[in-house]
Amino acid sequence: MSNENKSIHEFDFSLICEYFSSVERQGPGSAETTIKALSFVEGLTDKSLIADLGCGTGGQTITLAQHTPGQITGIDLFPDFINQFNSNAEHFNLQDRVKGIIGSMDELPFRNEELDLIWSEGAIYNIGFEYGLNLWRPVLKKGGYIAVSEVSWFTDERPAEIDDFWMDAYPEINTIPNKLAQMQKAGYIPIACFCIPENCWIEHFYMPQVEAQEDFLRKYKGNQAAEELIANQRHEQQLYYKYKDFYGYAFYIGKKI
Ligand code: SAM
Repeated sequence: MSNENKSIHEFDFSLICEYFSSVERQGPGSAETTIKALSFVEGLTDKSLIADLGCGTGGQTITLAQHTPGQITGIDLFPDFINQFNSNAEHFNLQDRVKGIIGSMDELPFRNEELDLIWSEGAIYNIGFEYGLNLWRPVLKKGGYIAVSEVSWFTDERPAEIDDFWMDAYPEINTIPNKLAQMQKAGYIPIACFCIPENCWIEHFYMPQVEAQEDFLRKYKGNQAAEELIANQRHEQQLYYKYKDFYGYAFYIGKKI
């Protein structure tokens, strides 16, 4: 289908996918952080079933697979991400244990109490933290674990500029104690929680985008949607540098009771 036949909506989505396919991660994180979160998860065996929801192209899934036994299913809405995810799994010779499928995190293809571990880095916000924790709980075994990273306020108060930005982008952003209370209310024991380090944003998320942005703008010179996409990314990045003492991602690890 040529671009002229696509709605603006579809075109924007394909631009976003193309842009984020060009970088290893689609959200802040790092191998070290994935391994640290995993260190709180006990009891996995080669029979364990794990889901990585909103897996993107699988940056964190490969790390997860290299440090856990068991089968991992990655789920993401976007076919291009899943194609790249499965190529990555093959590249690391993990295709027998790691499989990406296209799907939505609010319609999971799992039976009740089927999973030993639900993983989701920087993605549960798509359906909302509290809603997602409640929605996913039935497919997790009793005693199974959930590990999600989520944007969180580090302080009770913050400057209006960053408060306004996040209240517009994701009104469910909240402080860490409030997120932990939501996790407990949803039927999980909060096992651990930690703030992911700044290098997950700067070194692993924003810095790789600098070159990708220049390539993208060269390719789509004069394309307003592409220029707006990059301007938004740059604005978000500038806000992070300015206000990183006030917010970031926290990893929340819970155990189903
Ligand atoms: N987990 C990856 C990482 O940390 O690099 C990707 C994080 S990215 C910020 C959010 C991901 O959620 C994207 O890959 C996006 O395609 C995916 N996504 C958005 N809505 C979704 C949905 N309803 N179901 C599944 N995936 C979704």
